[in-house]
Amino acid sequence: MSNDVEKYCSDYMKFLAAAKTERLAYAEAVRMLEAAGFKKLESAKDLRPGDCVYRGYHGKTLFAAVIGAAPAAEGIRVVGGHTDAPRLDLKPKPLYEKGGLAYFDTHIYGGIKKYQWLTLPLALYGTVVKKDGRKVDVAMGDSPGDPVFMISDVLPHFGKEQLEKKAKDLIAAEDMDVIAGLGSTAKMLERKYGIEADDLLSAELEIVPAGAPRDVGVDRSLIGAYGHDDRVCAYAGLHALIELAAGVGRARRRTSMRFLPKTGAVVLCDKEEIGSVGASGMESSFFENTVAEIVDRQCRMARDIDVRRALEKSQMLSADVCAASDPHFPDADSTGNEAKLGKGPCAIKYTGAATKSGASDARAEFVAEIRRTMDDAKVEWQMGELGRAEKGGGGTISKFMARFGMDVLDFGTPLLNMHAPWELASKHDCFHTMKAYRAFLAH
Ligand code: MN
Ligand code: MN
Repeated sequence: MSNDVEKYCSDYMKFLAAAKTERLAYAEAVRMLEAAGFKKLESAKDLRPGDCVYRGYHGKTLFAAVIGAAPAAEGIRVVGGHTDAPRLDLKPKPLYEKGGLAYFDTHIYGGIKKYQWLTLPLALYGTVVKKDGRKVDVAMGDSPGDPVFMISDVLPHFGKEQLEKKAKDLIAAEDMDVIAGLGSTAKMLERKYGIEADDLLSAELEIVPAGAPRDVGVDRSLIGAYGHDDRVCAYAGLHALIELAAGVGRARRRTSMRFLPKTGAVVLCDKEEIGSVGASGMESSFFENTVAEIVDRQCRMARDIDVRRALEKSQMLSADVCAASDPHFPDADSTGNEAKLGKGPCAIKYTGAATKSGASDARAEFVAEIRRTMDDAKVEWQMGELGRAEKGGGGTISKFMARFGMDVLDFGTPLLNMHAPWELASKHDCFHTMKAYRAFLAH
């Protein structure tokens, strides 16, 4: 493996370890952007080619851009990924005791196979907002010496009846409750964080697998981690944009002024795993409002039509992971059209189910343009489908962007056992995903 791949993946793994929730991913991304000289969009009075700006929303959704030579009204290039991942959310009144044990009552967020979450070390992360508006960040389970949490399962000796059930019924969603201790949980939370049970009414607390990403395999060619979906693409987009910003900065200092031809942007959004709904999801107006903010700073007397043109002439890679073919589960594959681990990021023309229902089907002209861009930049990439017809399919944010009339293609890193507490990606694919986004934003 080349040094470039190793260095990139080691940085990605650090990001992943720090970004266990969408809020933490946001904070980490803002830290990276500010270190690279990006300024808040709100603080920019006007925008010129080469300017690097970002706009955050609710501490969860993020838009970052390097302003290009052409005005935004001529369209921008966007790489859009999401930073939320399947997990268990604590209910508003999560604390209860049963049989001498203290529990956190949880509500499933995103598509999971429930049985995979039993008897694993789990961590607790989130934000509690007190009535007076003060925020308290909670993080327990990943720092050395931290306790972890777990969901119990019945022992095999007593589990004969349970094992006769269908896998989806092995445990009920309402029983996915997390052991918080032997009692006095509320008191401990009060002592450690100064939060009372009532404060949990206004909180976002998430249970996620404990532990940092690890190299997998004797050759260390793979990364096992929680939350590759979709932080692997989110990080790749962010890294690519920051590299391009640095390139523009260097060119500027040499006064050769080589700008991106069009404004290059990265969107990291929330709530993809539950359908992109809500104010921080891609269905909200955040994206078009941000494009409007850019257009407004680029042309005096910007009109609504300028924003509509900017949106319609834009192009997007919907940066989301796809399913890699698993040799042990060949029935899931669309044979001949399956993504393979280690063969680079995969373009998915349409992600819909059996009849393409719900798919944002990229037009052939745009796919051809992407082929050209990737091949010119020597990106190793592949093309595939999302699983076997009548079995596969899945939603991404592409359809929410395509509604503006822009070209959108799903393009992301293949994963093995996506949505499991521990997902598997190939280092080679991670690196080439970043190269792909860099080529797209810069071409
Ligand atoms: Mn995803
Ligand atoms: Mn997903």
